[in-house]
Amino acid sequence: MKTFSSVFAVFLSVAAISYSSSNRAPGRTWINDVTIVSPEKLDHIERGSVLIENDRIVSVERGVERKEGAKKPADANLVSGKGQFLIPGLIDSHVHLASVPGMMFDPAQSKSEMVRKYFKQLPRSYLYYGYTTVVDLAVVDREVLEGFRRAPLHPDLYDCGGSLPIANGYPMSFAPAAMRFKLFPNFIYDSRQASSIPSEYKPQDHTPAASVAAVKSSGGICVKTYFERGFAADRNLPVISPELRAEIRKAATQASLVLMMHANSFEAQKFAVEGDVDVIAHGMWNWGGLDGRTELPAEIRAVLDQIVKKRIGYQATIQVLAGMSLYFDPEYLKMPAIAKVIPAEMLAWFNSAEGKSFKRELERPGFTDRAMLEGYERSVFRRVRQVVAYLAGQDANFLFGTDTPSSPTYGNLPGLNGYLEMQQLQKAGLSLAQILRAATISNARALRIDSQVGTIEPGKMANLILLKESPLESVSAYDSIATIWVHGKAISRESLAAGG
Ligand SMILES: [Zn+2]
Repeated sequence: MKTFSSVFAVFLSVAAISYSSSNRAPGRTWINDVTIVSPEKLDHIERGSVLIENDRIVSVERGVERKEGAKKPADANLVSGKGQFLIPGLIDSHVHLASVPGMMFDPAQSKSEMVRKYFKQLPRSYLYYGYTTVVDLAVVDREVLEGFRRAPLHPDLYDCGGSLPIANGYPMSFAPAAMRFKLFPNFIYDSRQASSIPSEYKPQDHTPAASVAAVKSSGGICVKTYFERGFAADRNLPVISPELRAEIRKAATQASLVLMMHANSFEAQKFAVEGDVDVIAHGMWNWGGLDGRTELPAEIRAVLDQIVKKRIGYQATIQVLAGMSLYFDPEYLKMPAIAKVIPAEMLAWFNSAEGKSFKRELERPGFTDRAMLEGYERSVFRRVRQVVAYLAGQDANFLFGTDTPSSPTYGNLPGLNGYLEMQQLQKAGLSLAQILRAATISNARALRIDSQVGTIEPGKMANLILLKESPLESVSAYDSIATIWVHGKAISRESLAAGG
């Protein structure tokens, strides 16, 4: 962590210098008479007060109004939280900042102005829905991440550096052969495919140890690899061997990096469990030969039991499926929330034929939109909900992650997608307490950033969300945000809306 925190410290001091002339330091803020809903104390919810000094929480007092009466600290800005609920800033541990909704790897040149406005709004849209920390799992364009960090208001951003696909495997297989090795410089060399790897790439530079070292030196906190044989036209992609999996595991442990694996099938999650990964980056919606079974098969339950027992972090990412099914939902683009998180011209483009081009890859001849929607419900949604319900029943280590956007869909928009994912998780059987823990303390612990964020405790970063409704009573509470504090700076929700 040393490297990362020193990079972070440098960034903070630069930010402090550049704002000192225009903005006053946040100073002290006292949020009083508020119901404190912090995930390490969900069995102990009381009203109280939280004192922020500059960018940190310095004290948390519960129940004081019943004792001697709370006193406002000197020079503090008073914020009354009467009738409201304070939670830690939310963490989305699976995003892809450089991917533009509705577009493939290479954003259309003709849409550069629209894309520029989208990236300008991007950090604000995450904050608009209460996400004050995001983790980018596969950096393909570092400039986008730097732009995000330079924005005047933005969530804390961590990343896994360049990801580790097997040569010519998922997802580098989606990039044109001439570009893919440049886009995925940490790919793992595969001697079985030496003839389809350009000769300038040497095996010794693309071992698990070399690629993990590259992630570490870029400031990454995690390593992302994949087990994916593909789908549709590309269903026989190369995958990593158990030997390579073991080498990646060993290198990640030695570098103190969290190991995350893309795995959404029974076969892939079994492979991930056998390799002792730290985090499985998707829900299991493909059951292979067991797809048609209506009850959760015993073979799958055995793998899920291992996920529970080993406390492997589990990102259900159910909205990935909505990223496909929403193309068949005539109501989706009419949601008023969409205009809050993307520029108006992007919404207009989504409504055009060109903006819906991904739909043509998804539709099946002879199927109406309604039949397509029902098909998704009966297959992938049903299966992932059965898996998630089973894991929820055993209180598995859920980590809140959305995979926003699961390229190239327009169905996963920044910030809003998190709110929709919470609704999906609830529908699949997670309790509201499980959802809150997944998006705060569990994410923070799994990513080893819990000394900074994840709870409302003295010493933590003052990333806080004031809600009008209780997040333990209704998932809609996450859409009732009044104020967001980022590093102690208060921001009203409406000021973060697109076009606002
Ligand atoms: Zn992803």
